[in-house]
Amino acid sequence: MKTTSWLSQISFKQQIWLLTTVVGMFAVISFGVLSNSPSELEKTANFNINMSIQDIAPKLEVTGKALARELDLQLDAPKKKSLSSMGITEETLQHSVEHLLSHRDSMLKYYVYIALFAWGLVFLVRLGRPDGSDIKNRHDWYPRTPYIISLLLSVAIAGFLLGKSPNPMESIVKVFKSMIGLYPDPMVKIVAFVFFIILAIVGNKIICGWACPFGALQELIYSMPILRKIKEKKLPFVLTNTIRACLFITTFLFLFGIIGGRKGFVIYHYVNPFNLFNLDFETLSLLLTVIITLLVSLVFYRPFCQLICPFGLISWIAEKFSIFRVKIDKEKCTQCGACIKACPLKAAEDRVKGKKMPADCFSCARCLNVCPVDAIRYTFFLKKNIK
Ligand code: SF4
Ligand code: SF4
Repeated sequence: MKTTSWLSQISFKQQIWLLTTVVGMFAVISFGVLSNSPSELEKTANFNINMSIQDIAPKLEVTGKALARELDLQLDAPKKKSLSSMGITEETLQHSVEHLLSHRDSMLKYYVYIALFAWGLVFLVRLGRPDGSDIKNRHDWYPRTPYIISLLLSVAIAGFLLGKSPNPMESIVKVFKSMIGLYPDPMVKIVAFVFFIILAIVGNKIICGWACPFGALQELIYSMPILRKIKEKKLPFVLTNTIRACLFITTFLFLFGIIGGRKGFVIYHYVNPFNLFNLDFETLSLLLTVIITLLVSLVFYRPFCQLICPFGLISWIAEKFSIFRVKIDKEKCTQCGACIKACPLKAAEDRVKGKKMPADCFSCARCLNVCPVDAIRYTFFLKKNIK
């Protein structure tokens, strides 16, 4: 088996790296488990429609505007009047409370993201290619099994076990929402966003490629060895990025009431596939987004990331500053096209051609074991020549 062959080829130093990384991952997650004190919120949450927004919102750790929006009221609805006098039913209140509670961040999940990110980074930079291995053994490099294990862990732990929040997509949306006063402490949302963006910059989008649970689910489906002929077709980057950027701008315009005339409307809310991890499909559009995305993932690489995700867009911009990334040695490259064929996107092609605005690279490693002249590495951005 290829993974066995790779394991037998890695050097003693790499074995130490492997051991240290795995132990480090366990240590980080264990620390997260020990420092994650369960919130008392659910236990104390006992709300009814005789209470006002002012009574309930602080207990849910949101602002009055956020609760009003959730109850389908205007953001400036009276905060001291009872909910029943504003026509809110018990059912609507319970539904809104459940939804707001489902968006609270699991702090443990941040530790899981760090562990999966660290594993991806070490594997790509230090482990995937056995030290001193000859180029003719390249097909044994970067075996898929360690990647698939990381993806499965992401879906199981950062997805279904710990629920939808936090996730990279939501981190951006929450910063937007805090701009119109939907969260009591905007700085907390900014810190969460900065956390994800720093990870995206340190290792080129490794947070998307290796740790994001919905990204992982799409990657696993795409990796199934079926419909290979159709998979050779790649969506044009100009088209996917334009759609993603237009959606981003439109969301902004709706959120601030520039379109629609009502502040607080968030388009992403209706296409947020992370709801899958809470099995919470409050609108038909959410269910359809998940079903369609997962079906399309059979033939196109990460359709949600390419076409919709705001973090996909922002981290594509951040890629220009990434510290560790795929690098192609232009002096060695013969433009044979091997990496272009292996890449599920236009990312490798744009890099070979030296495009100024290349397509997103999800650090999937598919291009790292195909180059016949050893011109590709996942390495430090300033490294000049690949030896
Ligand atoms: S682009 Fe994809 S992988 Fe990255 S945050 Fe969005 S859904 Fe997750
Ligand atoms: S195959 Fe494409 S997406 Fe994957 S690491 Fe290489 S350039 Fe990036």
